[in-house]
Amino acid sequence: MKTAAFSASASGYRKEQYMLNVGKIEEGFVLDHIKAGNAMKIYHYLGLDKLDCTVAIIKNARSNAMGKKDILKVECDINTLNLDVLAFIDRSITINVIKSGQIVEKRKVSLPKEIRGIIRCQNPRCITSVEPSLPHIFYLADEKKEIYRCRYCDERYEANDSGEL
Ligand SMILES: [Zn+2]
Repeated sequence: MKTAAFSASASGYRKEQYMLNVGKIEEGFVLDHIKAGNAMKIYHYLGLDKLDCTVAIIKNARSNAMGKKDILKVECDINTLNLDVLAFIDRSITINVIKSGQIVEKRKVSLPKEIRGIIRCQNPRCITSVEPSLPHIFYLADEKKEIYRCRYCDERYEANDSGEL
């Protein structure tokens, strides 16, 4: 497991400009336009810590559109990962699929119909509160309003103020 974390905001000695060289990836994908600060969250939700592939995490990269953004470069087959949850975490993300060192496809993320084991039902009377072994499953109840409800008790999922899942 190789993980590299870089900060583009580190001030350069003698005001030199330092370019980040994280290396071009040959096969894999790049998650771009991640809201600054979300890269590590996504790293964990995608289970990248458990995979034996090269991952580069770029924090606070300069972006004309966003000011600052994070970027994740992952050198593994995109089909081995479930990227559904990305849209739920951050709708601004774009996925660039890389083959032989070239971008062959750009994907927008879309809201998953179902979210498993990522968010928890907060209803104390929900069966998932009494049966800790049950998976927490939410379904997309209203796509326009982005409302998710618990599969068991229909409790609506509300993100808290800190943006934590
Ligand atoms: Zn529930």
